[in-house]
Amino acid sequence: MNSIERIFEYVAQKDITIIKNAPMCEYTSFKIGGPAELMIIPENKKQAKEAFVFCTSEGVAPFILGNGSNLLVSDNGIKGVVLHTGKMNNVVLLDETTVECDCGVGLARLCNFALDNSLSGLEFAFGIPGSVGGAAFMNAGAYGGEMKDVILSCEHVTPKGEAQVLKSNELKFGYRHSAYSENGFLITSIRIGLTKGDKSQIKSRMQDIIERRRSKQPLEYPSAGSVFKRPEGHFAGALVEQCGFKGKCIGGAMLSEKHAGFIVNKGGATCDDVLNLIDTIRETVLKEYGVELEREIKLIK
Ligand code: FAD
Repeated sequence: MNSIERIFEYVAQKDITIIKNAPMCEYTSFKIGGPAELMIIPENKKQAKEAFVFCTSEGVAPFILGNGSNLLVSDNGIKGVVLHTGKMNNVVLLDETTVECDCGVGLARLCNFALDNSLSGLEFAFGIPGSVGGAAFMNAGAYGGEMKDVILSCEHVTPKGEAQVLKSNELKFGYRHSAYSENGFLITSIRIGLTKGDKSQIKSRMQDIIERRRSKQPLEYPSAGSVFKRPEGHFAGALVEQCGFKGKCIGGAMLSEKHAGFIVNKGGATCDDVLNLIDTIRETVLKEYGVELEREIKLIK
């Protein structure tokens, strides 16, 4: 038996959901990507920890998949194991203003939970289609807010199976960056600190933000959000637009006509289509403006 077969047997015998050859195009917002050799879908922290630690003891570091909304996955798929957090869904109110949630909880659900409890602070995140674990990992942000403004601490499991907590000042948050960008740990739960607010005001701010998203972003097409990070002193979308790329297609990948920061899958796009379009744009922007655009979306192969 090889390590993948041993992982399959161990996880299945623990009654944790495990799928062979899971099509990543069904688990990513871009709708691109070949099969993951094994996909493990734990339902709680205990299952996640057991599966994660067993994989690493077999020398296989699982790729942690949240909601797949910041990913470009290779058409050849992912060799090895994907640990998908989508069924880890617990959210609780710890006290008047503190929420604790599992990593797999969707930001939309967390925002609605905050709204139901008249808690303010998460309005900026309404409409970001990630899980809370993915948003913590990425320090996701929008409309003047970032996850670092509300995260009090994250609990994680190390590959050796140690359950630890990092407080906000230890999380090394930066622009689309956190301590987890480097360490390969599995974030299992997140503590969020909010403030008591007025329900109708929170709701109207959330509605305003979602309307702004709908009017500016090509939400009618599959995508992975902003392709490039914001380069210092510039806006990536503006540079790309000034180079005349809006509407530019390579295969099924198109630079959105609505928002020059987004590449969309207009149907049947492959990973290579997207990468070729990204390379073409980067080369042109470098030549025309001397600015090196850095990818925000993560390439997984
Ligand atoms: P995934 O895409 O699944 O993973 C992203 C990274 O996080 C991967 O490296 C993964 O391994 C890691 N990860 C995920 N969960 C865990 C975990 N539990 N433990 C350890 N590592 C983990 N982003 C913004 O910041 N602002 C926006 O306004 C925004 N708008 C978007 C709009 C659209 C239409 C789309 C499609 C995307 C947008 N995004 C935006 C990008 C994306 O939604 C965010 O980056 C989000 O935080 C990713 O979360 P996810 O759960 O989908 O993570």
